[in-house]
Amino acid sequence: MAHELLIARDRQHLIHSAVPWSMHEERGATILKSGAGIFLTDADGHRVLDGFSGLWCVNIGYGQQSVVAAAAEQMARLPYATGYFHFSNEPAIELAAKLADRAPGDLKHVFFSQGGSDAIDSAIRLIRYYFNITGRPSKKHMIAVDRGYHGSSSIGAGITGLPAFHANFDAPEPTQHHIPAAYPYRFDGDDASLISRSVRDLQTMVETLGPDNVAAFFAEPVIGSGGVIIPPDGWYRAMAATCRDLDILFVADEVITAFGRTGPLFGSNHDDVAPDLMTLAKGLTSGYAPMGALLVSDRIYRAIADRTPSGAIIGHGQTYSGHPVSAAVGLEVLRLYEEGGIIANGRSSGEYLARALAPLRSHPLVGNLRLRGLLAGIEIVTDKRTKTRPDPSLGLPEALARIGYANGLVFRAFGDAMIGIAPPLIITTAEIDILVERLSRTLDAA
Ligand code: PLP
Repeated sequence: MAHELLIARDRQHLIHSAVPWSMHEERGATILKSGAGIFLTDADGHRVLDGFSGLWCVNIGYGQQSVVAAAAEQMARLPYATGYFHFSNEPAIELAAKLADRAPGDLKHVFFSQGGSDAIDSAIRLIRYYFNITGRPSKKHMIAVDRGYHGSSSIGAGITGLPAFHANFDAPEPTQHHIPAAYPYRFDGDDASLISRSVRDLQTMVETLGPDNVAAFFAEPVIGSGGVIIPPDGWYRAMAATCRDLDILFVADEVITAFGRTGPLFGSNHDDVAPDLMTLAKGLTSGYAPMGALLVSDRIYRAIADRTPSGAIIGHGQTYSGHPVSAAVGLEVLRLYEEGGIIANGRSSGEYLARALAPLRSHPLVGNLRLRGLLAGIEIVTDKRTKTRPDPSLGLPEALARIGYANGLVFRAFGDAMIGIAPPLIITTAEIDILVERLSRTLDAA
């Protein structure tokens, strides 16, 4: 189809995620055609460095032929097998076992989903089931943090702490609550007092709702879509410990942070935390096929298994749970992370990125530069002393993304004028230099 016709058809028929539909119609789509390594080429032949790994998912970069071969081989042999009832398939079994082997604590059981939103949805449903079947049906309330992102499913969107995901969709359910995020740049005090404040916020919320009424607390090890907000070291561990003290479940949303994004295999490893439940997606298949997962602790699994009578149905399942092609992709991606040295490269590249980005701290627009592994956030301000954000009516995030793209760089520009950087873990030091040069040029032009 001719390029102009494609753009017109896109406008007419394809609903894009998140953007205002009117803006999409005015601007038209950027149609991506191919990818190689960490570079993408669009339909106009413009080649850009993907500083955001697609949507923080293509950790292994584009064009990894062994993954293509694994998918093709599985598709030819057995393209589909249901995970319903007693059917199973080899790649799903093998991937579940490998995840269980590597995950922290006793997260030994895996329910596969199609992505992150339905992994969160599965967590919410299973938490309800768990407390109902263990005789604590009053435990219904769930707490998360402002600016946290946990997907856009019907119930999961209420756990998300971003107002745009509630506006005009109706407010979160009455059982869904948020406490302030641990946001060091916008907190007046040291790390220890920020951690104590978050702990107190959680304790107070649980006290107010009644400890017997609260089921779970959800957190990302690093807030992603809320603007790459990195809590102080020890925050995540303190929140997990507080959950244990309060007898509520700690759910780690590792949809972005797992698979080396912040350095170790799981973001929870950073603070040595063993969550009760963990959600995965994105890096699980590196975006080569859709797949997410909910990891369930042995304790929760056993409680549900032992109390649900055999012959009864646990009414939760999806046609594509444990899809063999996605699982075959996940297995090969995991092999590349580990045996192919991609996680190790991500770790050393993260250290190099920290050094390469550091000079940007003195840029007049950069109020705060934060980074863990290959996950970086830059907060744009118009006055460094007062930390004043640019006037939203100026549309700076959108302008930055546009200028960046013209300069050959993709990054994420969030509302509140924050920039997210999350390049593929295969990035080399020479490519990081290119990324930083294009980013500096973009900031200079803003
Ligand atoms: N949880 C987190 C932390 C995410 O970043 C995302 C997506 O960005 C989701 C959940 C939802 O995942 P998906 O878009 O695959 O539904």
